[in-house]
Amino acid sequence: MPAKTVNDIVALCKRRGFIFTGSEIYGGLGGAYDYGPYGVELMKNIRNAWWNFMVYARNDIEGLDAALISNKLLWKYSGHEGCFSDPLVECKKCGARMRQDKMKDITKCDNCGSSDITEPRAYQLMMGLSIGATADGSVNAYLRPETATTTYVNFKNVLDAKPHKLPFGIAQIGKAFRNEISPRGFVFRMREFEQAEMQYFVNPAEDEKYFEYWKSTRLSWWINVLGIPQEKLRFLPHVKLAHYAKAAVDIEYAFPDGFDELEGVHNRQDFDLGSHTKGQNEFKLSANVMENKDSTTKLAYSDAQTGENFIPYVIETAMGVNRAMLAVMLEAYTEEDLGDGKSRTVLKLKPWLAPVKAAVIPLVRNVPEITELSNKITDDLRKLSIGKIELENSGNIGKNYRRHDEIGTPVCITIDHQTLEDNTVTVRYRDTMEQERISIDDITKKVLEITHQ
Ligand code: ATP
Repeated sequence: MPAKTVNDIVALCKRRGFIFTGSEIYGGLGGAYDYGPYGVELMKNIRNAWWNFMVYARNDIEGLDAALISNKLLWKYSGHEGCFSDPLVECKKCGARMRQDKMKDITKCDNCGSSDITEPRAYQLMMGLSIGATADGSVNAYLRPETATTTYVNFKNVLDAKPHKLPFGIAQIGKAFRNEISPRGFVFRMREFEQAEMQYFVNPAEDEKYFEYWKSTRLSWWINVLGIPQEKLRFLPHVKLAHYAKAAVDIEYAFPDGFDELEGVHNRQDFDLGSHTKGQNEFKLSANVMENKDSTTKLAYSDAQTGENFIPYVIETAMGVNRAMLAVMLEAYTEEDLGDGKSRTVLKLKPWLAPVKAAVIPLVRNVPEITELSNKITDDLRKLSIGKIELENSGNIGKNYRRHDEIGTPVCITIDHQTLEDNTVTVRYRDTMEQERISIDDITKKVLEITHQ
């Protein structure tokens, strides 16, 4: 039985050390979560899966890791300072604050159903900072609300350092901060979250072709790399487009409460490079941009063959890493009825995504030969550099198996008295609970085989 509600995952995350409420001992802070020992591993594996697919497997995409705090001018010309605001309404009866564009019915409060609701007012979503020795509390910088803009302003730096012909892309994974009105859905909507975004720079004549290409390429990543079933994913084209967009589509996942966004694929035309470029009048821009008198650099591309100098279009793929982890956990979560009133919870993660690759469990802890052998097997497995290998030093075997089922460890290796006699260990498989005895000499081969699935 898969997870029926997000609450199934919330309880597991806390109990087993995936995700904790941020600032928990002081009552928490809305929209902020801390990732525990197994959460950091799962996030890292998802990030790596994205980076391998988007950067390492290709010739045309470079990586970038830009600063989280940035000059205010970036966000003035990107349009975020003026427009990055949500329409906020408040229920006069219960005081609930809601984003009008996300309400089920804009005439009724989502919380209490009252129709006594205020007029919408704009609400600044960016988090302002006051930095430097002369800071007087007024906002003089922002925490970035997305990675994309910090990529656009590095377009020329990257291109000069690593020349490319169009099309080419720049990928970034990193934190973003938004002063969300109503954080919700556990890690679905937070105030501090992580994005994996890629900006693909194309010749304007080829924008539609690459928009379609990235739609299908990204969908295939969710299905074939992360293993989300195709029937639980769908495209939702935007009917009302943002002023800069020529086309936009969300990749949505069937969360327990219904379909919702995991990733966006956007055709942003020449809006971004056009907004931040010096000498805008020299270029024929399609998008409507604010006049820029502050930029020091032309964010243009020169085609060596045609001699043309122009502002490329951008096709963007923008995914939330926390939402990806939530979807992966919801899919993997399984409650199994074992008969006789017994049940177990198991996280059937793809083994390469699992936070712990293998657990080594000495059956008893007071026999030095068993301890020594367990340490040696653990060391040998760690030398494979495949991720976290855990050596269990407490708890009985049943408890250990239950814990490793719940955190998704694909295989447990148990060392017992028989091991000292015949050089074999018990290997227990997470999904089937089957056990077999294999020679110590075959352990590393076996673990490699399993964790590469
Ligand atoms: P939404 O409509 O849900 O507010 P968005 O369309 O503003 O999202 P983008 O700006 O396109 O989102 O960001 C790209 C991705 O970042 C989203 O698809 C989502 O997975 C993730 N994301 C956006 N906002 C949040 C948030 N507050 N918490 C967690 N993830 C987020």
